[in-house]
Amino acid sequence: MAQETQIISDVDFDQRGKQQGYLHVPYSHNTGGWSKLQIPIVMIHGGSGPTMLAFGGNHGDECEGPVALMKLARRLQAEEVHGRIIIIPALNLPAVREGARVSPLDGQNMNRAFPGQASGTITSMVAHYVTTVLFPLADIVMDIHSGGRSMVFYPCATLHRVPDDAQYARMLEAALIWGAHYVFIYADVAGEGLLPVEAERMGKLVVTTEMGGGGECHPGVLRVAERGVRNVLIQQGLLDGEIERPEYEVETIAATEEEDYIVCRADGLYESFIDVGEAVDAGEAVGQVHFPERCDRPPETVLARTTGVLIGRRAIGITRQGDNVATIARPIAAR
Ligand SMILES: [Zn+2]
Repeated sequence: MAQETQIISDVDFDQRGKQQGYLHVPYSHNTGGWSKLQIPIVMIHGGSGPTMLAFGGNHGDECEGPVALMKLARRLQAEEVHGRIIIIPALNLPAVREGARVSPLDGQNMNRAFPGQASGTITSMVAHYVTTVLFPLADIVMDIHSGGRSMVFYPCATLHRVPDDAQYARMLEAALIWGAHYVFIYADVAGEGLLPVEAERMGKLVVTTEMGGGGECHPGVLRVAERGVRNVLIQQGLLDGEIERPEYEVETIAATEEEDYIVCRADGLYESFIDVGEAVDAGEAVGQVHFPERCDRPPETVLARTTGVLIGRRAIGITRQGDNVATIARPIAAR
């Protein structure tokens, strides 16, 4: 039987109104034997209706989610909300403070820690709390990601092709209404234990994204993120108002094959030839790796193995063997 969480919440999830508080996570360390890690949580409960859980900062170097959700949490009042919106803008707070992908406290990646353990490391305890306490409250789970420091994405709403057709249809509708240029159907090429996968497994309507990246909070990308959150809240009946449609047609693309995810074959400095959003053909060079220790050595070309649009690319030059440097997605029928 699963152990009970050791995390205490200030927020009473049954109480109406707007509450701001913390999740108190036991954190015993060298300069604080009986300390707690305090993760901010805001709930806006306006009465009957669905419950949406919204996370930013699952990866600490992705700024768009935390910024969009903190702004929303400050702005929203209970009278506007039909149902409950539970917002955790910086789920992996220690990582957000450091601008790091993984937690500096235990070296763990929050998005590989699910379903988590009640008595695990800090990151694992938080994942366990989300899985056992927060997910059961929720109808909709929103997890806002971006490329972080190492990657840049052409802003997109993302989803898995979950086996349940009805769940998939609802997730696709929400991804389309998010209003980024692309809805990107992706494959898990980098491990297990993802927050969205755990939520999908529990039958939730899961909304995830890859907003820009490069470690920055780009004004145009943030606007897409804020519009996306609001559009989904309106679509799901949590807020009144008009859905704001983008000026472009939203396209659905997929990178579901291993060949769509190109990794670097050697350490070096990576030079991208093309930017995200641009078309690429199989066999075309997407970039090259330079070898700073060897001026005499020609750079090694990195080739696309599939044809489509470059949806993500490496953001930082310094690159290790096996790092993902380019992701290529193909247009597919939306439904
Ligand atoms: Zn992420």
